[in-house]
Amino acid sequence: MTPIPSFDELLRKQELDREEIKVLLAAEGPEKGRLLRRGLEVKLAHLDNCVHLRGLIEFGNVCEKNCLYCGLRSGNGRVERYCLSDDEVLSCARLAHELGYGSVALQSGERSYPEFIARIERLVREIKKIDNGSLGITLSLGEQTEETYRRWFEAGAHRYLLRIESSDEELYYRIHPRNATHDFHRRVDCLEALKRTGYQTGTGVMVGLPFQTLEHLAADLLFFKRMDVAMVGLGPYIPHPDTPLYKFKDLIPSAPERMDMTLKMIAVLRLMMPEINMVAATANQTIDPQGREKAISAGANVIMPNLTPGEYRESYFIYPDKACVKDRPDQCQTCLDIRLAAIGHKILYNAWGDSKAFTEKHRG
Ligand code: SAM
Ligand code: SF4
Repeated sequence: MTPIPSFDELLRKQELDREEIKVLLAAEGPEKGRLLRRGLEVKLAHLDNCVHLRGLIEFGNVCEKNCLYCGLRSGNGRVERYCLSDDEVLSCARLAHELGYGSVALQSGERSYPEFIARIERLVREIKKIDNGSLGITLSLGEQTEETYRRWFEAGAHRYLLRIESSDEELYYRIHPRNATHDFHRRVDCLEALKRTGYQTGTGVMVGLPFQTLEHLAADLLFFKRMDVAMVGLGPYIPHPDTPLYKFKDLIPSAPERMDMTLKMIAVLRLMMPEINMVAATANQTIDPQGREKAISAGANVIMPNLTPGEYRESYFIYPDKACVKDRPDQCQTCLDIRLAAIGHKILYNAWGDSKAFTEKHRG
């Protein structure tokens, strides 16, 4: 029989199985500290201490879906709906360029009617014209047909984020309605389609969902590895009072526990996939004032500062008390520079900040 590796031996492994991942995710006290430090060490060995920025443009909050956890769900009548004009989107993108962010991320509720698809295609082309294509473009616009993904890719978008939310089909249907618009297999197919199209494809999950176990979280990490994605975004689940999942809020771990588990997930994933891009999600900052820095110190390397015009930010009400809702972009930047310097990191300005895992694989 093969002897069970010690905790410190697990920290040196890249190919971890489900049981080994569970041991790492269960770490507490000094072992947890060693895991998080190892996440940072592996990141610094394979990447560097640079943080990449994506200026986040929350394009609109109208959504055709009804995910049970999200404030933007179509069934929520208590949110004021908005959609940015073309001019507003383009001025956010120009601001990202002026601030030296290097990339923008366009995110919105899911919409799939032809005018929306054509509009995104046109906006991507316009953003590409800013300073001769100097801005990288990430999209996060939900499930679309392969043809739509291809049109947006050919227009100039090159990264796409579509969280699987949970890689366990049963848990997926506890947090989504079980119907044709919320089909687990379609979501997986979309990730495959994005990869085939040529995007740097990103996925991720919420951590601390009702009914979620260590088993589910370990399976999520193995799913990211099996899908061989280029980017992952992990963030704590934050209960929203105007959503159906809110009634289970007493079943979930406390905010510090959800934060802690998110950090452990980031660190373990960094051991397993050392060269991918990993986002320090705003949700981290929402439940812990140091949340983004802690995520960067556990192995994440991307931050998405909000560029959405102030008057719309509060309507992009995914979950309550979202961090930085009131900050101006220039304040946000100074604040980030200082906060990152304090933890030995720096922002890499004026660069797309592509995933090394992706660029190495697709090199010549
Ligand atoms: N509509 C697109 C989609 O679903 O892929 C993009 C926008 S959606 C608001 C972006 C992400 O917000 C989702 O992938 C989900 O993980 C996250 N989110 C939604 N509700 C949340 C909540 N209550 N707590 C934490 N994250 C949440
Ligand atoms: Fe819509 Fe995305 Fe929210 Fe689901 S998570 S309701 S698709 S905005």
